[in-house]
Amino acid sequence: MERAEPQAIFRMEGVTKVYDTGEVKVHALAGVDMELYAGEFTVLLGPSGSGKSTLLNILGGLDQATEGRVFFRDLELTGLNDRGLTRYRRDHVGFVFQFYNLVPSLTARENVQLVTDVAPNPMPAAEALGLVGLTHRIDHFPAEMSGGEQQRVAIARAIAKRPEVLLCDEPTGALDSKTGIRVLDALRDINDRFGTSTVVITHNAAIQRMAHRVITFQDGRINETWVNDTRVAPSEIEW
Ligand code: ADP
Repeated sequence: MERAEPQAIFRMEGVTKVYDTGEVKVHALAGVDMELYAGEFTVLLGPSGSGKSTLLNILGGLDQATEGRVFFRDLELTGLNDRGLTRYRRDHVGFVFQFYNLVPSLTARENVQLVTDVAPNPMPAAEALGLVGLTHRIDHFPAEMSGGEQQRVAIARAIAKRPEVLLCDEPTGALDSKTGIRVLDALRDINDRFGTSTVVITHNAAIQRMAHRVITFQDGRINETWVNDTRVAPSEIEW
């Protein structure tokens, strides 16, 4: 099926990132040119240390490029100061990390409300938790939930502010295949329903089968980019 001309949501031009640790300089990104498209589910693959997290953190406004330019639509992230980046993150980006970063003394609902209390146009916490299939766990504490359920609370927290972009760093890295698939199902469902542009870093090459677009990294550079015309549901992925 033909798709409409894709609209770039992120653009990187000649992006480098050098960490200067004193003794050595680490070239985490060595010149990246890239576009990501609105509404797509993109998977970033590559060996450990190839620069994936660095790139995701720059897209999310958690870190700054050393050289080059980064745009979110028409907004140049490389032109923003810390205050501007904080506003950008607050208004546009949801994050999901490998370890769920939930507050242990708060219930699932209260963890989500931490975000909805400060967002301009949030969905109710109960609705966000319903979207990830956790209505029955809404008043449970993190310690009363499995790893996969805790990660789905983290996804509910990330999407409750209705972000345009969801950035996920190894979201299934701490999970077994069965719970990992439920987490991927939740991410895919959000992407389908709301068109949330989603970027997922993974070590697990099998996950590329559910992506619209796959980008592979090697030594701080993009190795290959391809469009997946035969995406499958997470349940069809063999880990
Ligand atoms: P990946 O996500 O693909 O595993 P990273 O982006 O985390 O790769 O790291 C890329 C390179 O940058 C690695 O060599 C890593 O050790 C280095 N690096 C990442 N963060 C820092 C940091 N804060 N200080 C110094 N080096 C870092």
